[in-house]
Amino acid sequence: MPVSAPDFSTRVLDWFDQHGRKDLPWQQDISPYRVWVSEIMLQQTQVQTVIGYFDQFMASFPTVHALAEAPQDEVLHLWTGLGYYARARNLHSAARTVCERHAGVFPTNVDALMALPGIGRSTAGAIASIAMELRAPILDGNVKRVLARHGAVKGWPGKTAVANKLWSAAERYTPSTRVADYTQAMMDLGATLCTRSKPGCPQCPLARDCAGLANGDPLAYPGKKPKKTTPVRQTVFLMLQNPAGEWLLEQRPAQGIWGGLWCFPELASEQDAELWCLDELGVAPASSLALPPFRHTFSHYHLDISPLHVQLPALDSRVMTSDRRLWYNTGAPAAVGLAAPIKKLLATLNNDHAPGSLL
Ligand code: SF4
Repeated sequence: MPVSAPDFSTRVLDWFDQHGRKDLPWQQDISPYRVWVSEIMLQQTQVQTVIGYFDQFMASFPTVHALAEAPQDEVLHLWTGLGYYARARNLHSAARTVCERHAGVFPTNVDALMALPGIGRSTAGAIASIAMELRAPILDGNVKRVLARHGAVKGWPGKTAVANKLWSAAERYTPSTRVADYTQAMMDLGATLCTRSKPGCPQCPLARDCAGLANGDPLAYPGKKPKKTTPVRQTVFLMLQNPAGEWLLEQRPAQGIWGGLWCFPELASEQDAELWCLDELGVAPASSLALPPFRHTFSHYHLDISPLHVQLPALDSRVMTSDRRLWYNTGAPAAVGLAAPIKKLLATLNNDHAPGSLL
């Protein structure tokens, strides 16, 4: 059954009257400046940590003018330990804009607030609603969680379609009276009751019509950020073995993957093997056999490796003229660096087969 907006906000406000936080430093002497600084500090940092920083910041820069006039080094110094320093730089630059373009008075509409550096829609909504009592919704992390669970809104809020659904719920439920308390109440509800891993549903004023709770799995909302799919590349390892049982290895260029290590020559396709042997070694393969493919994973992609074992006939001397190639004898290994999958392949082959008997 659809929930009426006044019913929703009344329950949230009643809960706030009894359980909401009312003694945080930025809830005293409320001003757009103080709300703004607190909102920026709270973006990536817990309330308990922010309190000390906020008090110190306000003692040093009690007004937007004081902040605008301060050297950036001093602002960054007071931010030390809070992290995400772009926040401090934006704060400083927005303070200068407020002083230069708005005579030190914060604009009184969400769009103009959003035009200031570092102020997104939710921060603008918080300043407008808390400090100016304007009916403006917010959607910070806590409110997203409450609304996603209450409306059983599936999907990751980083996706525009999901964010739009949450914004329209935020917009719908925001009342036109007591909007400052309501904004604070929704933030508190998310921070203290509808918490990330242990929502206190039995105490929640929204439990009666919370669709996430009714579905039996409120923790499923909001959806998690989808993991990026790791790209997959393909390669063929050309495992050339001479009649003495030695393997041909090449040193890779210094730059790129396995830089400077020794590897089997690589091919784009198994069909290229014969041509490669003729061009590079002057002989045709005596025989060849595709070995089971395997995957090697780098931090940013998977490499699917298809090893092709090629037995060579007796060779002329051309191959030994390159100092970037060597015949690797697993019984008396040269002191060179091997790429991890090469090492693994050679160890496996060495254990399973005597040199020259792989086929
Ligand atoms: S009922 Fe539970 S899941 Fe739903 S909003 Fe309240 S605390 Fe969150």
